[in-house]
Amino acid sequence: MKAFRYVRVSGGAGDVGKLVRKGATLKAGGCDLLDRMKERIAEPADVVAFGEVQNEYLRAIAATPDGLRIGALVTLAEIAASKKVAAHSAALAEAARRAASPQVRHRATLGGNLCQHTRCGYYRIATFPCWRRGADVCPVLVDGAVQDTAGVFDNGECASAHPASLPPVLGALGARVVVRARKEREERAFEALWRQPAKGVHEDVALAPGEVIVAVVLPPLPARTNVAYEAVRQRAAFDWALASCAARVTRDGGKVKAASIWLGSVAPTPRRAVAAEKALVGKAPGAAGFAAAADAAVAGASPLPGNTYKVELVKVVVRRALERAARRER
Ligand SMILES: Cc1cc2nc3c(=O)[nH]c(=O)nc-3n(C[C@H](O)[C@H](O)[C@H](O)COP(=O)(O)OP(=O)(O)OC[C@H]3O[C@@H](n4cnc5c(N)ncnc54)[C@H](O)[C@@H]3O)c2cc1C
Repeated sequence: MKAFRYVRVSGGAGDVGKLVRKGATLKAGGCDLLDRMKERIAEPADVVAFGEVQNEYLRAIAATPDGLRIGALVTLAEIAASKKVAAHSAALAEAARRAASPQVRHRATLGGNLCQHTRCGYYRIATFPCWRRGADVCPVLVDGAVQDTAGVFDNGECASAHPASLPPVLGALGARVVVRARKEREERAFEALWRQPAKGVHEDVALAPGEVIVAVVLPPLPARTNVAYEAVRQRAAFDWALASCAARVTRDGGKVKAASIWLGSVAPTPRRAVAAEKALVGKAPGAAGFAAAADAAVAGASPLPGNTYKVELVKVVVRRALERAARRER
């Protein structure tokens, strides 16, 4: 690991903006950042560790008139155990509970979960070339290796997939992301948080230098709305998903009135399956409609020779999420 300056911020830092010194890298739980620093993929000169800040806004899960606000420093373990989260959306609690391992869940924060980088084996090992780290081409697309971690959508130049468990559920819930930008807090649509891959750019989140995610707000769900999360992993624990899906379905009488379906681990950013939503709306919820939505979800997929199976996995997680959403409220 390359030498760096380490500033540890604790106590009740009121002004989150002051946490980010010019050009400094934030460390929350450190699960992702330290991994990259040890591999010399990230070599920050300045690290500001703010995981111990006792700022109420950053640490609380609070019911507000705008919805359920979850601070960026809330850990995955706290989300998994929270009665407030479970009352709003058991699917979010489940996604947090099924992620990683107990040790990781007790360190990993919501903000860090959104901002974690791809698990692509080429990106993660400094001695391998990687387009995201400045190489001319993505070697996964050229020699076809390490494809379990690769995406099956939007992979024209980079085969990475965003591996995090919480984003698909947050997308399906219509979450808004609260960002501390300059001196103000700003709410952004969940979709606006993401950027498509670019040569030499490591991050998947579209945050300007100095911007910090301070919370996520989950708006109240409409009546007759069910949400479910499904994921398939190689191992049941201590692993990222190969494919995941969160589905939110609102019914009106015997038909689907609205749907929001998001996929994880299959594209460089969490991916909204708009065609699958369209296939459901106006139809009766049931096996035929769910299968049609699953087929629609993979339209336009561009799997690599070694991960065509992931297209089938996407269909499986979409169908299972819809079946579970049909069975339970919230
Ligand atoms: C064995 C193993 C299995 C795992 N399985 C899963 C899994 O199944 N699902 C899953 O989702 N994750 C999984 N993880 C990853 C883990 O959940 C993430 O690394 C973790 O959520 C990152 O959070 P952190 O607080 O530790 O982030 P950090 O490592 O502190 O930060 C990560 C990045 O986010 C930036 N950052 C952090 N907080 C903020 C903020 N508030 N605003 C702006 N930028 C910020 C940092 O600068 C850094 O670049 C696994 C990890 C391991 C080791």
